[in-house]
Amino acid sequence: MISSEIFPFAKAGGLGDVVPQLSEELARSGHEVKVLMPRYGSIETADLERLPFLLEPTLAGRTWSTAVYRYVMDGGAELYFLDQEELFASRGMYVDEAGQDYPDNLCRFGLLSKAVFPLCRSLAWQPDVIHGHDWHAALAMTWLRGERQNSAHFAGTISVFTIHNIGYQGIFDYGELPVLGLSEADYRGLGFEYYGKICLLRSALYCADRISTVSPTYAREILSDTYGFGMQDILRERSSRLSGILNGADYSVWDPGSDELIPHRYDGENIGGKGLNKADVQAEYGLELSEDRPLVGIVSRLVTQKGFAVLLGDGGENLRRILSGLDLQLVVLGSGEPWIEEAFRSIAAEQENLGLLVGYDETMSHRIQAASDFFLVPSLYEPCGLTQIYALRYGSLPVVSRTGGLLDTVVDIDENPASGTGILINKTNETPPEQADALFSGEDIFQALRRALALWQDRQRYLETQQRAMGQRFGWKEAGTEYLRMYEEGRRQPS
Ligand code: ADP
Repeated sequence: MISSEIFPFAKAGGLGDVVPQLSEELARSGHEVKVLMPRYGSIETADLERLPFLLEPTLAGRTWSTAVYRYVMDGGAELYFLDQEELFASRGMYVDEAGQDYPDNLCRFGLLSKAVFPLCRSLAWQPDVIHGHDWHAALAMTWLRGERQNSAHFAGTISVFTIHNIGYQGIFDYGELPVLGLSEADYRGLGFEYYGKICLLRSALYCADRISTVSPTYAREILSDTYGFGMQDILRERSSRLSGILNGADYSVWDPGSDELIPHRYDGENIGGKGLNKADVQAEYGLELSEDRPLVGIVSRLVTQKGFAVLLGDGGENLRRILSGLDLQLVVLGSGEPWIEEAFRSIAAEQENLGLLVGYDETMSHRIQAASDFFLVPSLYEPCGLTQIYALRYGSLPVVSRTGGLLDTVVDIDENPASGTGILINKTNETPPEQADALFSGEDIFQALRRALALWQDRQRYLETQQRAMGQRFGWKEAGTEYLRMYEEGRRQPS
């Protein structure tokens, strides 16, 4: 595996949760799994083993002398950290302190993808599969083609690429081509070409033997013009190689019965602790201490993809209408685009029923899940989404848009009274037809929350739905089996 994020060492979003979970699942089922990631400055080396060799990959006309550290996870998957001072160890993940992408990200993640080959050689290990995650690992898919032709070491290795979010594509100026040491013919022939730019994601989609994404619905959606983000053509060409495999959740971390990050543990049979968590969070966020008003939670990157432009509305009017028109409380934990942070801040200053913490806080993310009665995820698109899966387990009923993995994990209670676990945001006819695939309005979110309130007031029905939600499981066993099946197919029939 190659990934730019592995929890608990580095995580910005779902990618950081998913890759270690999948790796551990495969390792537990008896496979040899090695995972490559950068050692960012925040990762201490004290508990890591330094390997007795240096890798010397070349990139941007230089040789990058790189140490490697190793760490074995509980299930047996081995993590390998690339320790390159100039590119990784002196920095964070993707952006500098001003929030700007590091200017040499092409070189940084190019190195991550390139180093996998000398690492495997140094370990005398011939992998069956090199599995890259998101654009940071895309170039490994491209370079494996050449390695497979030129080196017996990788002759039997296939490449698998997983799209965790097609909105992030690794696009760089054409002028940076020399960084990769590729020719004009490679640029055109290996799928990089994208409106005159270099697109790493596109090359991976072109070169990988198998492609997957993180839910069945998203696998269908990305073939469409609306959700394909410019990649729909190459994906349609390669659709026979594309699968959608729903992410699992790590229930050893996300279980209200054993979660050490929440003050009051609870489970389906003994739900009392949930109310205590709610009171704690209400107190902490300066909200009225009320059992009767439902608490709606949001834990999210504050980015446009997550639907905040719609939730907020022009000048915050949609959110103000929700907060003043519906008898509920909203608690928001997140960080991201400055204008979204600012909009929440100004509304929180004037509305008594909005609690806000701008920042990234793992403990608080658990506490909000445990405290909430509902959990709002109004994403414009959502490849899989993890927070609604955690919310189900915590008995915090998801209110979600009808897209991607949200649609694959939440069942609307009004449409399916016997099996419902949450509320899906319905689109009204007001949505302009040309946007009908993708968008819903602020009014649609308002109406969905109104249905949530009606459910809340129908106490018996709410509690039954909550029990059903808490009983849902999205495990890694099933997902692991599907990944193995995809690897097998890829090995039988590489592209
Ligand atoms: P994405 O990967 O698009 O960000 P997911 O729902 O797949 O969305 O995963 C988000 C993960 O990041 C979840 O584990 C969620 O709890 C966590 N998360 C997001 N924002 C924050 C935050 N501000 N503080 C703590 N955890 C967060």
